[in-house]
Amino acid sequence: MTIADNISAIRGHIQEAVSRRSVLGAPGPVTLVAVTKNQGIAEMQEALSAGIGAVGENRIQEAVGKYAELGDLPEWHLIGHLQTNKVHLAVPIFHLIHSVDSERLASEINRVAGKIGKRQNILLQVNVADEETKFGIDSDQAIDLAWKISGLEHLCLRGLMTIAPFYDDKEKTRPIFRKLYEIFSALRKAAPPNTFIDSLSMGMTNDYVVAVEEGANIVRVGTGIFGARKY
Ligand SMILES: *Cc1c(COP(=O)(O)O)cnc(C)c1O
Repeated sequence: MTIADNISAIRGHIQEAVSRRSVLGAPGPVTLVAVTKNQGIAEMQEALSAGIGAVGENRIQEAVGKYAELGDLPEWHLIGHLQTNKVHLAVPIFHLIHSVDSERLASEINRVAGKIGKRQNILLQVNVADEETKFGIDSDQAIDLAWKISGLEHLCLRGLMTIAPFYDDKEKTRPIFRKLYEIFSALRKAAPPNTFIDSLSMGMTNDYVVAVEEGANIVRVGTGIFGARKY
């Protein structure tokens, strides 16, 4: 299977998952973000030729180097943890930052975005499964934080993101995705001023089908497209 074959198979599975959705009012077309961490420029170009419009990176240094070669197309998504001292490097590159998990980080992104005249799209990362090892805010703090940061004028809050624990039995991820969809729906209904809540980022290679069934409209797939990462 080539990278292009994998992408087209995944697109097929996404469409099937959309048609099986039971959730009401799930957000529109599903964006397949190709997670290109540890992949070279050649692999990235192969994915882009196969129609991938968005790439996900989790380390700033790596993204900076690749961005210098590839430029503004594709759409760059930051999916990894962001430290405040790296915000000035991230904001010029990324269309969407998936991993905002504190008011302090949001304020710093707002400050840097204001300086370069950008309105930065962000998601709040929620640690739904409450894992010690994962970044993200607690489920019961998501709406609160959304209200708190909604006044920051150089940010545009677009929705929520989560990383589910890895389970061999993918069905075990379903309650986690269902819970984030509930919080997402509540946030969409609350609609704090200056936000545009239309994006729900959940699902990776192992569990993206379940995530889409439960309402995800952004999935982040790495190994499913490129094969096992060579570290
Ligand atoms: C690496 C990574 C992915 C992709 O994982 P795969 O299992 O290779 O699909 C998705 N999201 C985040 C946040 C990641 O760090």
